[in-house]
Amino acid sequence: MSEGLTPTPLDRLIAEALVLAGGPHSCSVLGHKWKSEGGRWCGCRDGRCSVPVHECEACGDCDYGDNEDADDVRAECDARHEAAGEDAPNGGTT
Ligand SMILES: [Zn+2]
Ligand SMILES: [Zn+2]
Repeated sequence: MSEGLTPTPLDRLIAEALVLAGGPHSCSVLGHKWKSEGGRWCGCRDGRCSVPVHECEACGDCDYGDNEDADDVRAECDARHEAAGEDAPNGGTT
C-alpha cells in the first residue's frame, strides 16, 4: 500500500493474515495495539487525578493520555472544580 493513503479492506486482510502467520503488526493498517502504560496527571492544580496512558505494543508509540478514557477523567475533573467554584483546569466541558 502507498504511504499516506487510507488502508483498503484488502490491505487490512493482508495485514491480519500476516499477523496470524506470526508476522509484525502493521500499525499503519490495523491501528496501534494499545496496552496500558500506567497513568499520567490530568493537569489540574490539585494533582489528584490521573488519566490512563497507552503504549503501542508493536511500535512503541504512546498516546500520552490522548484517549476517550482520559477525556472522561478530565471532564469529571472540570465538573468537580467548577462545583467547588473554581475555574475548570482543563478548559471546561462545553
Ligand atoms: Zn503502533
Ligand atoms: Zn484533575
